[in-house]
Amino acid sequence: MKHKQWHSEATEIILQTLQSTEHGLSSSIAQQRLSEYGYNRLPVAQKKSALARFTLQFHNLLIYILLGAGAITALLGHWIDSGVIVGVVLINAIIGYIQEGKAERALDAISQMLSHQANVIRDGKHLSIDADQLVPGDIVNLQSGDKVPADLRLLKSRELRIDEAMLTGESLPSEKNIQPCNDNSALGDRHCMAYSGTLVTYGTARGVVVSTAKLTEIGRISEMLDSVSILETPLLRRIGQFGRWLTLTILLITSLTFIFGLLFRGYTATEMFLAAVGLAVAAIPEGLPAIITITLAIGVQAMARRNAIIRRLPAVETLGSVTVICSDKTGTLTCNEMTVQSITLVENQYEVTGVGYSPGGKITQNSTEIDTQSHKTLRELCLSSMLCNDANLQLTNEQWVLHGDPTEGALITLALKSELDYELENRQFPRIDSIPFESEHRFMATLHHDHQHQYFICVKGAPERLLEMCSLQRHDGEETPVDIEFWEQHMSRMASMGQRILAIATRKLEQPQQDLNFDDLEKDLVLLGMVGMIDPPREEAIKAVSESHSAGIQVKMITGDHAETAVAIGRILGIGDGKSVLTGNDIDQMNENELKAAINDIDVFARTSPQHKLRLVSCYQSRGDIVAMTGDGVNDAPALKRADVGVAMGMKGTSVARETSEMVLVDDNFASIVNAVEEGRTVYDNIKKSILFILPTNGGEALTILAAIITGRLLPITPAQILWVNMITAVTLALALAFEPAEKNLMQRPPRDPSEPLLTKFLIWRVIFVSLILVSGTFGLFLLERGNGMSIEYARTVAVNMLVVFEIFYLFNSRFISEHAFKLETFTGNRYAIYAVLTLIVFQALFTYSSPFQVLFGTEAISQQSWLNIILVGSSVFFLVEIEKFFIRKKQRNIISTEK
Ligand code: ADP
Ligand code: MG
Repeated sequence: MKHKQWHSEATEIILQTLQSTEHGLSSSIAQQRLSEYGYNRLPVAQKKSALARFTLQFHNLLIYILLGAGAITALLGHWIDSGVIVGVVLINAIIGYIQEGKAERALDAISQMLSHQANVIRDGKHLSIDADQLVPGDIVNLQSGDKVPADLRLLKSRELRIDEAMLTGESLPSEKNIQPCNDNSALGDRHCMAYSGTLVTYGTARGVVVSTAKLTEIGRISEMLDSVSILETPLLRRIGQFGRWLTLTILLITSLTFIFGLLFRGYTATEMFLAAVGLAVAAIPEGLPAIITITLAIGVQAMARRNAIIRRLPAVETLGSVTVICSDKTGTLTCNEMTVQSITLVENQYEVTGVGYSPGGKITQNSTEIDTQSHKTLRELCLSSMLCNDANLQLTNEQWVLHGDPTEGALITLALKSELDYELENRQFPRIDSIPFESEHRFMATLHHDHQHQYFICVKGAPERLLEMCSLQRHDGEETPVDIEFWEQHMSRMASMGQRILAIATRKLEQPQQDLNFDDLEKDLVLLGMVGMIDPPREEAIKAVSESHSAGIQVKMITGDHAETAVAIGRILGIGDGKSVLTGNDIDQMNENELKAAINDIDVFARTSPQHKLRLVSCYQSRGDIVAMTGDGVNDAPALKRADVGVAMGMKGTSVARETSEMVLVDDNFASIVNAVEEGRTVYDNIKKSILFILPTNGGEALTILAAIITGRLLPITPAQILWVNMITAVTLALALAFEPAEKNLMQRPPRDPSEPLLTKFLIWRVIFVSLILVSGTFGLFLLERGNGMSIEYARTVAVNMLVVFEIFYLFNSRFISEHAFKLETFTGNRYAIYAVLTLIVFQALFTYSSPFQVLFGTEAISQQSWLNIILVGSSVFFLVEIEKFFIRKKQRNIISTEK
């Protein structure tokens, strides 16, 4: 018999027009149409052309200053200096262009890792395919949480509500049905259509694809999908601001110095101009923004390798300061491989043997196998759990593979163990309608009939829920009033063994009916029994929980499951004290202040619905916590949005959850969140290390030039030489810091205070301290060589090499922020550092000894004795900074001990 909604004439005509049927297209026709209509994708917005991207590299205050300086230098007739400045600017732009391109490609590759699936019917079978493969005429099923994959004409719908804000701007979800609407009605009023890209917030539906790709409404509006990744985060913005502020300060100081030199030191304007240019170039950390971008991109890639995909870049930083992780239980902390272990009926209790989804196991009573044929209630329970079920088990390569929800898969395995036949029973009792499971109402119901026109309903769901709904229970073939006390006793027995409990109920209908409504479940529902299933905790989650604790991060389990089950699983995982738990009901009864006081010591929240997640997130945030929250359903979206880092599940999560979250877990695994936190902390550390490395070197260079001007001497380093040092060290040494592995104690430290300023007192101190060391050494050796009667070219070559060698030594200090560097790991821990140093040595040798470089930069070959001096003096920075770190560590310990 046909479902009445299929009878609508309008829908028949639509199907005919699209040459489709209610069984969907055949795969060969779908293939044919795919080649005709093309893939169902929107063209990606044209990336900026290579030329435009290259030109943009010059759009920077510093570069303008440099180019201006280059032009004036040329006017003054200093052709070589001018050429070098322009050359270095060009090389800088090329490097920036390449690095930026790499970072962008890395992010693009990651954004493409999240494919979008659609549920279609083809050849009469339900399939899950890539949404790109859809063609007009395909029959598509929608359910709450889905992103509509193409423009659909609805054929069948149940309470469908769709959020069309992206298309119409309307913030409330619009209700949909299948009645035809006017040709000229506005987009927002076409209630029989579901449009590509909009989000299903409630209900289920089936529709036929009418247009795909560019021909969809969204395709027409936007033509182009804007997918250009923005490389910007709060930190980058702060650094950008800092950079502009710094540039202006430097310009001011430079101008003052210019005037000072002219008036008080008798330099000529030309000389002073070159010196001022040198000063500006020396002081500005031009490499820093690029290094930070690269560090972020490397971090995002590292996270993706560890199964955490970042959807919004700022999350990388936020992750490093997370103080509370709120996690789902099922599938995230546990394996989500359910196996039924026990069955409780009024008359009997049974145990079930076997593990996993393979039906190789038996139902036993007091450890002896039973003949299921003679246990009528048991058989009825198994049948109902098989019928009220959307999962599918398939034997492929001698492995039982589950398609669908594990809770339901476990029930099918149970039914197979009771010797029911899946195909046979489903043919005998066809399903007419269903109400799918939602964590909101915590049950699922289906409507069936047999071939004697007997209609009945099967319901399965959370036991408390079903106890509320059932007035009767099955007892030896009779129906008696529900014995609440009996069931509660058994529920807590099963739950204390860590079993997830599901109750099964049924109801015979007097009259045939075609639709299943919530009203039908309100009376005469008969409870058949309860099953207890186990879902073992993930091994890696146990480790990850203890790792979080030592990293100063609290782990909270928020589950829809039974309180005692949650506590039992929490005990194994190390979450909570093994007894305290707050239920959704408890939470409802508390006001904000009570809740705020309670949540500190409680780690397990049970019987919660998505609204509770939202309240909990807000409550933790109001205590100053930085919260990461997991979620998978539509109803989790508000909590995910509210959380500092919303974490959606890649496997079982809905599109709605993904679209609202900052991060998606490919493997739905709790351990991946903790890994992402570790990567987040590493990224922040490495950015800090780059700043700690780059700023003092700029400071040192600038002070060297200032010192020369103030003492009225020839510049120890020319502007061209400074540009050389800055460029060559940025692409070698500083870049190596972006690849720094995590420090060993990274996950033993408390989370970073998110309000911590960029320029901490420590950072300012370190910049001044190292700058002073650098200027003393560089200027000192320069004076020494001059005193020995060496030429200005010779002394400058020594000074430049001195600076570079200082930076090489300081790089190894910078690999650890406050930890000491007297260990082998300092030299073996990051091979990029070694490559960087070797490359740099080759370049410095060229700079010093090859004649083209000597002409360009005005350098001269220097003696072994000079090299010895350079290395001796250079190594001093290493020891001095290590001594400084020793005192810093001591101070930190003092602070910690006084705090305690
Ligand atoms: P969790 O946080 O453990 O994922 P859920 O909100 O998914 O919790 O489930 C809450 C309760 O709803 C479960 O303890 C179970 O009793 C019931 N339940 C879970 N899945 C289904 C389903 N597919 N059909 C019916 N009931 C279910
Ligand atoms: Mg669940």
